[in-house]
Amino acid sequence: MTTVKEIVAEMTGATSEDIAFVEKAYEYSKKAHEGQTRYSGEPYFVHAAATAKTLAEYGMDAVTIAAGLLHDAVEDGRVSREEMEKEFGKEMLFIVDGVTKLGTHKYRGAERHAESLRRLLVATASDIRVLIVKLADRKHNMQTLEHVPEHKRRRIALETLEIYAPIADRLGMGKMKSTLEDLAFPFVDPDAARHAAEVRKLKTQETESGLAKVQKELKQELAKKGLTTFRTDIRMKGLWSLHQKLKRKHDDISVIHDIAALRIVVPTIEDCYTTLGTVHALFKPLPGEFKDYIAFPKPNGYQSLHTTVVTPEAGIVEIQIRNEEMHRRAMFGIASHMSYKQLGKGVEKLGTEVQKSRFSSLSFSWVRSLIPSLMKITKKEGEVKGVTEVPPWLAELSEAHAEMAGSEEFVEGLKEDFFSHRVFVFTPQGDVIDLPADSTPIDFAYAIHSDLGDHIQGVKVNGKLVPFDTKLGNGEVVEILRRDSAHPSSKWLDIARTSLARRNIRATLGMTDTSKPKTPQKRKRSAGSK
Ligand code: MN
Repeated sequence: MTTVKEIVAEMTGATSEDIAFVEKAYEYSKKAHEGQTRYSGEPYFVHAAATAKTLAEYGMDAVTIAAGLLHDAVEDGRVSREEMEKEFGKEMLFIVDGVTKLGTHKYRGAERHAESLRRLLVATASDIRVLIVKLADRKHNMQTLEHVPEHKRRRIALETLEIYAPIADRLGMGKMKSTLEDLAFPFVDPDAARHAAEVRKLKTQETESGLAKVQKELKQELAKKGLTTFRTDIRMKGLWSLHQKLKRKHDDISVIHDIAALRIVVPTIEDCYTTLGTVHALFKPLPGEFKDYIAFPKPNGYQSLHTTVVTPEAGIVEIQIRNEEMHRRAMFGIASHMSYKQLGKGVEKLGTEVQKSRFSSLSFSWVRSLIPSLMKITKKEGEVKGVTEVPPWLAELSEAHAEMAGSEEFVEGLKEDFFSHRVFVFTPQGDVIDLPADSTPIDFAYAIHSDLGDHIQGVKVNGKLVPFDTKLGNGEVVEILRRDSAHPSSKWLDIARTSLARRNIRATLGMTDTSKPKTPQKRKRSAGSK
């Protein structure tokens, strides 16, 4: 069982107040879950404590760590919401409520709706800390998944792979992403997981000693260049990500060079490029394999230099070069930007220039694409105002962008946002469908299937019959009544908001589609941000 000491030991920059707060939550949660057990037979509190420890490792603030300890206490009815607020404050109740709310949306394996569900979860988490607690919670649930009844395992593992790992990835939380993937993989496809593990083991044995020599040689060369404060390690590719690559490369192991990569972490950006020079002087790089993610960060903010070189000792090796700051961000992502007290309280409060500059390399474009369009740029003040339904942390990210940029890039981003202003609705089965704002049941039906769209007899929203031109609102349950003899009319073209629906209607009405070259009725679900 994780002790409170172990949790506190992971906390960085914590005041004695912070520590006392976490200690109180620890004891409180322990008592609240008393007598309750997990599927494994362990005390339930083990789960709460493990979740809190992960949050501490990710550098989260005391409230978030305490929320990890208490995240299941209210839902279980062991602690009332009033009591939670009285003992731990509004902020805590807010986070715990948010985590509970996220838990009500479940993935049931309809892959085409996965993106909608991911977007829904991010958009409804009104505080980024809610998502991070949920990810930490999921991590421990995956670590103990073997104890869960067999018929539940696959659904939970799939949900982890399809929904939570991608969310972690898009928040730049690389460590969380690969941890979740590798925990889930064996439950989703045991044979493939075993195969990937064997491939990785073989390849590792093959290159282990060679890589150690390369590492040594590089260290000596770098020392000659005056670089002494750096560290190197071997980064093993995650099994799920190796599996994906094996599929792409038709199981041809000989073309996969990054199973074991050599990682070099140096103090500054300049050192990164110096190191790259040294590497290329020492070993011949493979042409076309060099990637400068420092100058061109990945959409989730990831930065590093990647190069693939030919070494006499270990054959073809991928080398990743980054500084400490980039390393921390690659592991912890958005959590590393928002540590301690500043979390969720507005970017402007981050203060120092150094911290601001971190945001300048932030490009969570996927997250940003969820920021509804209704934000106005007050040009005089160069200020961006969010509207009510924008989760504050999303608005803050966009403010950070406005601050730095004020530039074309930002305006361009806003335009994108305009097109991706979404409304989230549900099928009667609980699948999430995300549509552009002002969409109608006709758009909904076509988003599900063209056949459904082509035969709409009637529509129910939240159980009540409504006209076809009803604008759908967030969270509504939409049911399409289908009948073979029902067909689209040209009037529908004025009602439909999505081009997908219009295209289908025109095709069914036998109208020529001038907007696009005629293609067979291939269905493509718009995933949102183009
Ligand atoms: Mn939990």
